[in-house]
Amino acid sequence: MEYNYLAFGLPAFFLFVGLEYIAALRKNKKHLFKYDSSVANLSIGIAERLMNLFISGSFFELFNYIYEHHSLTHIPNVWYVWVLLLLATDFVWYWYHRLGHEINLLWGAHIVHHQSEEFNYTASARITTFQALIRNIFWCVLPFVGFHPSLVMTILVVHGAYSFFTHTQIIGKLGWFEYIFISPSLHGVHHASNEKYLNKNYGDLFVFWDKLFGTYMEEDEKPVYGLTHQLNSYSFMWQHFHYFMELAEACRRVDGIWNKLKIVFGSPEDLDQDIRPELERRFLPNKGTKELSARFKLYVSLQIVLSIALLFLITLLFKNLNLEDKVFGSLFIMVTLIYVGALLEQRKWIYYLEYVRFLILGGYLSSVFDTYGFLTAAVFVLFILNNTAPLKELYLRLIYQSEYGRFSLKKK
Ligand SMILES: [Zn+2]
Ligand SMILES: [Zn+2]
Repeated sequence: MEYNYLAFGLPAFFLFVGLEYIAALRKNKKHLFKYDSSVANLSIGIAERLMNLFISGSFFELFNYIYEHHSLTHIPNVWYVWVLLLLATDFVWYWYHRLGHEINLLWGAHIVHHQSEEFNYTASARITTFQALIRNIFWCVLPFVGFHPSLVMTILVVHGAYSFFTHTQIIGKLGWFEYIFISPSLHGVHHASNEKYLNKNYGDLFVFWDKLFGTYMEEDEKPVYGLTHQLNSYSFMWQHFHYFMELAEACRRVDGIWNKLKIVFGSPEDLDQDIRPELERRFLPNKGTKELSARFKLYVSLQIVLSIALLFLITLLFKNLNLEDKVFGSLFIMVTLIYVGALLEQRKWIYYLEYVRFLILGGYLSSVFDTYGFLTAAVFVLFILNNTAPLKELYLRLIYQSEYGRFSLKKK
């Protein structure tokens, strides 16, 4: 068996989230964690880690191809190359991140990282697959200038791990450290929507790129975290796609390819701010605002634990799994994440997502045992269930329990 030990990044992540939570409790700062927001952050992170398993290998191949055939030079493997590579990686990051804020198409992917109204370690997980794709395209510069792909892959793990630690309010300002490195306070400024903090501190590891390119700002007033116009939704799909939908709507409203391109590659600041509320009215009616019960939270948490356990297994055993294991396992996780988002929004159609999960399970068992029996049985059971209306009511009552009685479920 060949194991992928990067899987142990998952328990390490939760160890630090747990430690941060304990520290927050000790400092009487329980408000730094908000249940539904943390669940939404984790859901997005789980999806990205899962998809990354499928794309990271291809990017390593691409880095190798660029290094072998199109690199400017081959930088020799001596000790100071690591220092040069770290500087180069951080420099590329600065521009990847800054352009992610300045160009609509890239902001559509990066905005997800900024939707969180909380600033804790769970917010660091808010990276989407789209962002991972864009980031990897930027990283192609490194093998192009001559860094060996194996070194690049190693430094990317280290560089990526550092940014986890800059997402916390438990650690305050860090004195002299901030002359060289991005601290949690400095990155908190980047996540804030205060007027004076907008478009500041794009750096990931080193602070001097921001100073050099005029985007440096210290924390001198209390940051308000999140977007200038808060998203107001925990829907998994909406969080991923709302900005691309806004861009599509903005493009629809103008004539000519040139005007459309000006929107796609234009600045987020110039996008019509009325489009989002309009789309929200169309796609997210009747948002509930009631407190969730402890029992309901336990049920949602179990979905997340199930997804994380599956993700851990798929990551650890990735190289040994069949295509069926990977595809069905991934589909099950993705549908569960959409399900979790719909649960947080108290949607009635979670019932149909249960159908989909059931079919995925039936399909998987059919492929493992090489018989259509399981899938046929699953379809048959669903047919019976779908025609037994009280079961749907019972299911929703069971899931939402007190919520079901306290406030009416949304129609969509
Ligand atoms: Zn950003
Ligand atoms: Zn961040």
